[in-house]
Amino acid sequence: MLSSSDLAFDRHHIWHPYTSLQQPLPVYPVASAQGCVITLTDGTQLIDGMASWWAAIHGYNHPTLNQAMTEQLHHMSHVMFGGLTHAPAVQLCRQLVAMTPSALQHVFLADSGSVAVEVAIKMALQYWASRDQPQKNRLVTIRGGYHGDTFAAMSVCDPVTGMHHLFHGSLAQQLFAPTPTIRPHEPWHAAAIEPLAQLLEQHHHELAALILEPLVQGAGGMRFYHPQYLTEAKRLCEHYQVLFIADEIATGFGRTGSLFACEQAQVTPDILCLGKALTGGYLTLAAVLCTQDVAHTISHGPAGGALMHGPTFMGNPLACAVASASLQLLQESPWQTQVQHIEQQLQQELAAAKELPGVVDVRVLGAIGVIELDHPVDVAAAQRICVEQGVWIRPFGRLIYVMPPYLISAAQLSKLTHTMCYLAKTL
Ligand SMILES: *Cc1c(COP(=O)(O)O)cnc(C)c1O
Repeated sequence: MLSSSDLAFDRHHIWHPYTSLQQPLPVYPVASAQGCVITLTDGTQLIDGMASWWAAIHGYNHPTLNQAMTEQLHHMSHVMFGGLTHAPAVQLCRQLVAMTPSALQHVFLADSGSVAVEVAIKMALQYWASRDQPQKNRLVTIRGGYHGDTFAAMSVCDPVTGMHHLFHGSLAQQLFAPTPTIRPHEPWHAAAIEPLAQLLEQHHHELAALILEPLVQGAGGMRFYHPQYLTEAKRLCEHYQVLFIADEIATGFGRTGSLFACEQAQVTPDILCLGKALTGGYLTLAAVLCTQDVAHTISHGPAGGALMHGPTFMGNPLACAVASASLQLLQESPWQTQVQHIEQQLQQELAAAKELPGVVDVRVLGAIGVIELDHPVDVAAAQRICVEQGVWIRPFGRLIYVMPPYLISAAQLSKLTHTMCYLAKTL
C-alpha cells in the first residue's frame, strides 16, 4: 500500500515519463490490475483505454501469461545470452519467424523498442559497410514519426514535435519527407509519393535505409495513412537500393486489423522492429527481424562479420517465456473479430464528436480511436475527469485517444467513448 509519504517521496524523487521534478503532473497510485480494469489504492476502478501504451493486448493479470512466467521462474529468471541459449528464446524466435513474412528469417532480441530501432539502424549501416559503400550512412523518414528516445531513434523522430531542438548538434542529420496526408480509404493518387520519390532520387547514394511506422504514426500524432504509400515506398527503395525498415513496435500484433500493418500493403520490409505488445505488456522485450540478404551481407563484412550489439539482458528467459505465451494466446484468440468489433463500435460512438466545436478530426483504424482538438488538452484536468468517470485515458497534445486491450467488452468500451466525447466537449 502507498502512504501519503510514499506519494510525497514519488513527487520529490522519482521521474515519470516526460515530466519535470519541479512541476510534476499528478500520479495515481495503483494497487492492482485485472482484465481491462486498473484498481487504485483507494478502491477506484478504472476501465483501461491505453493498454499501457499499446502493450497489454490481453488485459492485465492473465492466467495463461502468469503461468508461463511462473513456470519459467522455477527454471531460471536469467542467464547471459553470450555463449548460452535456452528454450524460451528459441521457442519465441521460431514463433516470430513463422508469423512474419517468410523472407524474414533472422532475429535479434533487444530489451526495448528504442534499442530495437538502434539495432535496426546499426544493421542497415553495417549492411552498406559490408558492401563497401560506407558513404550510404544516412536515413530517410517521414515527418510526424516516433521511433523512441535513444539518440539514433530520436534523429528520425519528427524534427518539430520530437526532441531535435533540445539535442541539436548531438543528433545525426537525417532526411525528412512530408507526412503523408492521404488517408487509408481515400482514392490513391500518385502525387502522394512524389516528395519521397524526389528525396530518394537525389540522395540514394548516401542513404542506408528508409525507416517508418507503417500505416499509423503513433506517438508522433496518431495519424493514419494510405497503404499504397508503403507499397510505393518499398518499390522506390528497391529501385534506388535503400533498405526498408518497418517500425511495427506500436502497430504489430493485430492493432491495425492485420497481424502486421505492412500486410495491408503487401510489403515485406528488409528489417522489421517489434516490441510493446510482444510480451502482452508483461516485461520489456523487443525483436528485430531481417532478411537473409541483410544477415548474410553483414556476416561477410567488417568486425569479423559480427552484428555489433549485445545487451546484458539479451533474450531474458522470463521475457521470452511470457512473449511466447502471449503470441500463442493471440493466435488462439479471435483477435480479428475483436479488433473489428472495437473498430465498428469506435466509429459509431465517436462519430458524434465530429460536430463538437473545437474538434478538428475524429478517426478510427483497427482498435485505435482518436479525437483531435484544435487546442492542447489540459492533461491534469483530463485525468481528474477520467478518474472520476472510472476510466483510464491519457491525452497528449491535442489528442484524446484510446487503444484498449482486445478483449474489452462492448459496455466497457462505451464507457471509454462516452468519456472521450465528454472530454472533447468540456476541455
Ligand atoms: C514506443 C515506440 C518505440 C520505442 O519503444 P520503447 O520500448 O518505449 O523504447 C519505438 N517505435 C515506435 C513506433 C513506438 O511506438
